[in-house]
Amino acid sequence: MSEKKYIALTFDDGPSDTTSLKVLEKLKKYNAKGSFFLIGNNITPEREYIVREELAYGCDIENHSLTHSDMRTLDKETIEAEIAETTRRIVAITGREPIFFRPPYINYNDLMLETIPYIFICGFGCEDWVPEVSTEERAKRVIDNARDGEVVLLHDSEGNDNTVDALDIIIPELQSRGFEFVTITELFERAGVTPENAKRIVYTYTDQ
Ligand SMILES: [Zn+2]
Repeated sequence: MSEKKYIALTFDDGPSDTTSLKVLEKLKKYNAKGSFFLIGNNITPEREYIVREELAYGCDIENHSLTHSDMRTLDKETIEAEIAETTRRIVAITGREPIFFRPPYINYNDLMLETIPYIFICGFGCEDWVPEVSTEERAKRVIDNARDGEVVLLHDSEGNDNTVDALDIIIPELQSRGFEFVTITELFERAGVTPENAKRIVYTYTDQ
């Protein structure tokens, strides 16, 4: 019998009209959980129901900035405003403050680490933001790299159907290898790790 392994699928840049609910349907199809890192400006009144559905299924809703800028170029006040407004919009829907933050483009500096009171997450990316990277190639990269305690970085941005389709390969294959798909909060809990902002770690794996 193989030991249980845990992995967290995370999806950036939503909510989107075309892709977010398709991703959620794939998660439900395989009884897998995931986490969504939202861009504050994408949380419009028309899309609030999408966030509610993600939450209702048991997914985590986290912070991915307000405007998706390279935040290394921003001053402290602007960074604080980006984070606060995105959190305000998330809490208005979920009632829960984010715990995790993903820097846009994984660009970060000391000022951001000092200013943003959340756990920074990077994650293993399969270049699923590049249209030329096929469904099969995305799936292969994620499957080949998968290990216990890993965060996988994906995108539910508009029109990103290659990633939606890749989930049909990734999830059943890794489940057959003993992986359980959990939220990012659960990933740390299962690993027995309490991530601390003060440590200034940008996590891709829980054992960093
Ligand atoms: Zn992003």
